[in-house]
Amino acid sequence: MAKRRTTFLPGTESGVNVFSDAEAVEPQIADISSVIHPADDDIEQTGEEVGIAGSSYPPDGRTTATISVTVTDQHENPMPGQRVRFNLSYVRPGGNWRSASGLKLLYNQNNGNGAKAERLVNQGVIRVLGTLNDSSATTGSDGVATVIYRTSHIASDFSQNSRAREKIVAILSNGKQRTLNLNIGWPRLQQISNVPGGLRVIGARGTRVHPKLREFLKNLGDDVKGANWPHPVTVTAASLRWGGQYPPHFSHKHGWTLDLRPMSKDGESTWAKQDGSSASNYDRSRTKRLIRALKESGSTVYFNGKGAGGKFKNGHDNHIHVTWLTSNVSLAARLGNVIA
Ligand SMILES: [Zn+2]
Repeated sequence: MAKRRTTFLPGTESGVNVFSDAEAVEPQIADISSVIHPADDDIEQTGEEVGIAGSSYPPDGRTTATISVTVTDQHENPMPGQRVRFNLSYVRPGGNWRSASGLKLLYNQNNGNGAKAERLVNQGVIRVLGTLNDSSATTGSDGVATVIYRTSHIASDFSQNSRAREKIVAILSNGKQRTLNLNIGWPRLQQISNVPGGLRVIGARGTRVHPKLREFLKNLGDDVKGANWPHPVTVTAASLRWGGQYPPHFSHKHGWTLDLRPMSKDGESTWAKQDGSSASNYDRSRTKRLIRALKESGSTVYFNGKGAGGKFKNGHDNHIHVTWLTSNVSLAARLGNVIA
């Protein structure tokens, strides 16, 4: 839990305490330690602990922080019994990212399931804005009023130019107010590196992963290249720069999830179904080896091709969805033996 304190310095007027404009202590940003619980997804759950940079809240819709406001008089003595109103709103991004109908549009525009996105926002499963546990609080004998903030799932828009920001405004009964900005997003996701002949990223807006997953993918690419596969492994989606909601995907929020193409004989996209049918360019043998290598690193793999080793899930004929959210990536894994 991060403690954030803002101090209001009231002045005196006609013997009555009035809050002056005198500015006080800037909010202190403390480190947050948290556990990701993105159980907001139909196929992913995690118990993994991840460190968080002090200036950023994870876009997991779960992490909470106690926001404290200290109200003092002109002598800097704490003032009990003061009512403080709290108002939460977004700074950026705005527009479609912050409503059920807007997110529906974003999903539909990106070949996603807009109706599902809208429903999940309305059910509170996808959180387009953080929340406060109360809209006001009264200061105790220490002059402190607290409110509990819970994060949203929005970490940027598609431009990925800046991290999402929300703000809490604390307002006293005399109208004096103070703003606290909250940055939302995973701060340390890294770009997947291309390994010529081994691994590439195609057509993805989100090309970021956790540093440990990046290292695994580099190794995987080296192994594929070393085994002289005719075509590289192809990543078609990872996570956005700071993670967060990534239409048309419903997971891919934490840098631990990828979409991959099944392997093909011509390097193009391909498909295979549960009934054993497949596109003529489908490379069953290498797809099977790829999935085995992914599973050996501790991931869960969804792919419908018969006998390829993935779990069945609707919509996964033409791509492999792989997630390490429930496990750690096995860093030691050099899987040349599996790939070859
Ligand atoms: Zn996916």
